[in-house]
Amino acid sequence: MRRKIVAGNWKMNGTRQIAKDLAVGVSAIVEGLDRSIDVLIAPPSILLADVAGQISSNVNLAAQDVSSFDNGAFTGEVSADMLADFGCGYSIVGHSERRAMFGDTDEVVAAKVAKCLEKSIQPILCVGETLEERETGEMLNVIGRQLHTALKGLDQTRLGKVIVAYEPVWAIGTGKTATPEQTQEVHEFIRKEIAVIDEAVSDVVPVIYGGSVNAGNAKNLFAMADIDGGLVGGASLKLEEFEVICKAI
Ligand code: 13P
Repeated sequence: MRRKIVAGNWKMNGTRQIAKDLAVGVSAIVEGLDRSIDVLIAPPSILLADVAGQISSNVNLAAQDVSSFDNGAFTGEVSADMLADFGCGYSIVGHSERRAMFGDTDEVVAAKVAKCLEKSIQPILCVGETLEERETGEMLNVIGRQLHTALKGLDQTRLGKVIVAYEPVWAIGTGKTATPEQTQEVHEFIRKEIAVIDEAVSDVVPVIYGGSVNAGNAKNLFAMADIDGGLVGGASLKLEEFEVICKAI
């Protein structure tokens, strides 16, 4: 059976105090959940230490990004080594905000996936189309290219550690959610493409959805066969709403 995952991506939000309070709150939420659900939180990297000091052992720490380089003269970067040292078991990689605004090409994303896996950090590989790509029929080509470039050359063990997040760019922070049916269609496609790389692993890799997930739509999304959870942005900063989303799985 595939793991069920709810991950909160806090993006560039919070202060040390807000982060600590959220971390304590999420720990309390997770106390009441089934142990088969993995709850992750991804604070900004500068707040990782504060959050790490507050979360219970049932909450998993994730980074929002990782450098494609090893330690060295790379001003402003945070390496996979450093994330591992802070107890990050996961890192988001290739988020569309990084692809659109910070020059993360498919090749850079592939290098970041590789760096994570070298340090036993599970990459949460984000893929997804823009509205224009959806409307011009390019959606599956784009997602297929993003997936295959990022996962190329990974052996079965490493591939089995990857989590894929389908995040349609038009649904992020817009309040427009992809319908459960639209999402299921893409998740099924992603699973088939992973099967092209390795049939056995395709059944194991969780594929989660991100894009305006909220307390009202989570249950219907998570009910679909190939939707294994959510990558939650704005709603992960509101404890009550995040709790409803965690319980919807
Ligand atoms: P929102 O849930 O705010 O739309 O953000 C989704 C996202 O980008 C998660 O990584």
